[in-house]
Amino acid sequence: RSKDAGGGTFHCYEPQLHVDAEERRVLELALRQALNNNEMHLHYQPVVDARTGALTGFEALLRWTHPQFGAIPPTKFVPLAEETHMIAPIGEWVLRSACAEAARWDDPVRVAVNVSPEQLYNPAFVTVVASALANSGLPAERLELEVTESVFMREGTCAVRVLEKILDMGVRLSLDDFGTGYSSLGYLSRTRFSSIKIDRSFVTQAAGGAPEAVAIIRAVVALAGSLGMATTAEGVETEDEHVMVQQLGCTKVQGYYFGRPLPVAEARTIASRGRRAAA
Ligand code: C2E
Ligand code: MG
Ligand code: MG
Ligand code: MG
Repeated sequence: RSKDAGGGTFHCYEPQLHVDAEERRVLELALRQALNNNEMHLHYQPVVDARTGALTGFEALLRWTHPQFGAIPPTKFVPLAEETHMIAPIGEWVLRSACAEAARWDDPVRVAVNVSPEQLYNPAFVTVVASALANSGLPAERLELEVTESVFMREGTCAVRVLEKILDMGVRLSLDDFGTGYSSLGYLSRTRFSSIKIDRSFVTQAAGGAPEAVAIIRAVVALAGSLGMATTAEGVETEDEHVMVQQLGCTKVQGYYFGRPLPVAEARTIASRGRRAAA
């Protein structure tokens, strides 16, 4: 009987593997059609000044709604797009759309766009950025590109040179999800980042009373400050978390407490309120 049970377990396992590979294949095919079928759109999440609460910009976040499968989270399809080399055309679409949208806002706040390492390993990306700015009329200073530490992990790529050329245009650069990768402080002094985004995991742990997380935020804020960089606390969900990161000296905050990622029209309304209130 135990032999049977073992066999049963084995047979039970195989179809599971098959389903995963099948799901991936189906998803990959669907992803290839997604842009052409207008299934992708962007949401915009507010980023605010930690002290004044004033809007400083929005982060563009990619959304994919498939007619049959429904909403598929970026944590699921972005890695797939990276593995299958589809991130270049998708990322270009994100960049062009975000620049065009930001150019329409009444408030001249910044728009932040996430960029995958793969995009920076191609020198043609410099031209894509220049063209997105030229076509939209968005001043370079209003565009911020978010990259993660993983960009610097691979040896012998042109990523640093590509970033340099983009920085020379006047575009800003921020280091996303700081502290989650294999941090090396070397490139922080070599690449001109405007800001460091402190990953949500530290904010959550610090608010939960973890002294190590508090110490890490404090250290990152001090490091960024001495290098002339701003710090953005990611994933601030409560007033307590806001007070905490503000007291720790973070210069900007982003999270559900200030606003979820919003559809285009809602972001556009918020990006016009400041101007009207000030007028
Ligand atoms: P990210 O760049 O670190 O973006 C922040 C993520 O945290 C977003 O998840 C956002 O919705 C979420 N978030 C913001 N505030 C809070 C909060 O208070 N609580 C919680 N629990 N979550 C919060 P999202 O939109 O699911 O995106 C996940 C990741 O997918 C992004 O992380 C980014 O790495 C990637 N991604 C999204 N859009 C793009 C894109 O256009 N291109 C590339 N290459 N990656 C993208
Ligand atoms: Mg980001
Ligand atoms: Mg982030
Ligand atoms: Mg993050």
